[in-house]
Amino acid sequence: MNRPTEETLDPVNWNEIRTLGHQMIDDMIDYLQSLRDKPVWEKPTNEVKEVLNRSLPQEGQPVEEVYQEFLSYILPYNKGNIHPRFFAWVQGNGTPLGMLADMLASGMNPNTTIGDHAAMYVEQQVVEWSKEMFGFSKEASGLLVSGATMANLTALTVARNSLQDLQIRVKGTDDKLTVYCSSETHICVIKATEVLGIGSERTRIIPVTDTFQIDVEALISMIKADIAAGFRPFCVVGNAGTVNTGAVDPLEELYQICQEFGLWLHIDGAFGSLAKLTPTFAEKLKTIEKADSLAFDFHKWLHVPYESACVLIRDKQLHQSAFSSVPNYLTAHERGLAAGPEPLTNYGIELSRSFKALKVWMSLKEHGIQKYGRLVQQNIDQARYLGEKVSRTPNLELLVPVSMNIVCFRFNDGKHSEGALNQLNKEILMRLHESGIAAPSYTIIHGKYAIRTNITNHRTRLEDLDLLINAIIEIATGILVKVVEFDVNNPLHYSAFKDINYAWINKYFKVEQGDLDSLENPEKYFIATGGAVLLACRGDEILGTTALKLIGDNSLELCKMGVNEAARGLGIGYIIGEAAIQKAKALGTKRLYLETNSSLSPALNLYKKLGFSKVENFSSPYVRADVAMEMYL
Ligand SMILES: *Cc1c(COP(=O)(O)O)cnc(C)c1O
Repeated sequence: MNRPTEETLDPVNWNEIRTLGHQMIDDMIDYLQSLRDKPVWEKPTNEVKEVLNRSLPQEGQPVEEVYQEFLSYILPYNKGNIHPRFFAWVQGNGTPLGMLADMLASGMNPNTTIGDHAAMYVEQQVVEWSKEMFGFSKEASGLLVSGATMANLTALTVARNSLQDLQIRVKGTDDKLTVYCSSETHICVIKATEVLGIGSERTRIIPVTDTFQIDVEALISMIKADIAAGFRPFCVVGNAGTVNTGAVDPLEELYQICQEFGLWLHIDGAFGSLAKLTPTFAEKLKTIEKADSLAFDFHKWLHVPYESACVLIRDKQLHQSAFSSVPNYLTAHERGLAAGPEPLTNYGIELSRSFKALKVWMSLKEHGIQKYGRLVQQNIDQARYLGEKVSRTPNLELLVPVSMNIVCFRFNDGKHSEGALNQLNKEILMRLHESGIAAPSYTIIHGKYAIRTNITNHRTRLEDLDLLINAIIEIATGILVKVVEFDVNNPLHYSAFKDINYAWINKYFKVEQGDLDSLENPEKYFIATGGAVLLACRGDEILGTTALKLIGDNSLELCKMGVNEAARGLGIGYIIGEAAIQKAKALGTKRLYLETNSSLSPALNLYKKLGFSKVENFSSPYVRADVAMEMYL
């Protein structure tokens, strides 16, 4: 008999894929090792978008080529949440071992739902560890899910279906059920109640206090009013770390209220519940141990790669009766592969499930829970440092007291309306992202646009937070400061040029007659001879000046660069230096020259940043400067 030609997806040449696999691992380890030197984020180019918009491949191409496309079009345009200066939203970084564990899990590729195989036991163990981590009893149950969104939905399903008299699985949702949560609750909780047929209207949004915690009095009144009106309250969702500000609801009070009214207490602890591992929050989060259910993420503050989260349910029977229904083809056998632990589909919505438990299992074994606790505490301490730094920095305003790991602040120099400040801070944030230096996100705090810096990052160091603050100040200055050309009809320009530079020269050099003449008459010394004078202005204030002086053979000298003492540290020097370079180009110069004094090391750094290279040291009794630099335009 002629057998047909059979195909497979396995490689023809196993050594080729082995070599490529080794290369991939080397490349990714290099990538992770050098993260700090890369921009946080880069905008995907038009070419990238074009490549990623091509139609369905009909025939295959060599894997090396496919990998090259990944290296060219995908890897460089990563989201950035693995970077030390990613502070946006609440996202985790992942780890090298987590990455490798994902590879191992995909290699094994077990569908982790039913059967007698290792992945089932690994998941069971991870759930047991999770219960231990949060002080849930041995009798509790749990399930790994994709994210806290699914964990919240799963928990709320159990809470709803626990009202056994209503037989919701058979009859559908009762139209009297009500749920309670604060106005700071994550949107996925509202989505969950919508999906569950409770609807956003009967999800009672309770106002928060100044510190963004649920207003307990308002909650009690609402529950009572609902009962009086014939509704059936069944669940309160408490927050252990809100996504906006990191606020923790008064969980013990919520627990008491739930006891009193016979309600289910669910806690959304997506990231914040992990703070229970720290000395700072252990006590404040102790009530988690008594909650009916908890949703939390492994992929946020525990840095297991996406997606990995967990839901814990105090009452295993209720958990099971909310989801279990085993069709014939999934019934367990006494022996063989079809034996083993209870199918996990009895505890959630999904049937086919990945072996995500492996990366959690390997990560917890690699580091131990103590280290994770220290890292969470480290972020909490860093947030406190940042909050204090913001409070101490002129023109920055802390908008909410730091409660956990989130710092909300804005640039505010006291010279703008609220509307203008909102615009300004949004512009600062967009430029900050485009600069690739750091990536905080934003939120609105009592109508004020806030730069929201979330630190769930095991790679962040204090120096990264310093860099963030400096960048924000420099960008704000760049937006607010306009560089203008010297106006010979404006007496303020004369006086500012003279005052700023006199103070500057007098501080570092010996003032000579030539200096005084050029400061009195800049138009004669610089402009009239083919150079220029520039002034950096913020509104009516003149904050800095510089002059360009023609020194023959297509060369200009950059000189008289001074910044108002009161405007130091705002990055004015850089702004005016860049403007001078642009002006020199416009004047057709080929070479820009600069003499300065090497004792002015901050100035030297500035010149380097502008692109000058140090070409010679000299000391001369006739010149006061001792470093000469130049750049070719
Ligand atoms: C992130 C977050 C969620 C959603 O979790 P996912 O893992 O993104 O699905 C829910 N609640 C809070 C407080 C969160 O921070």
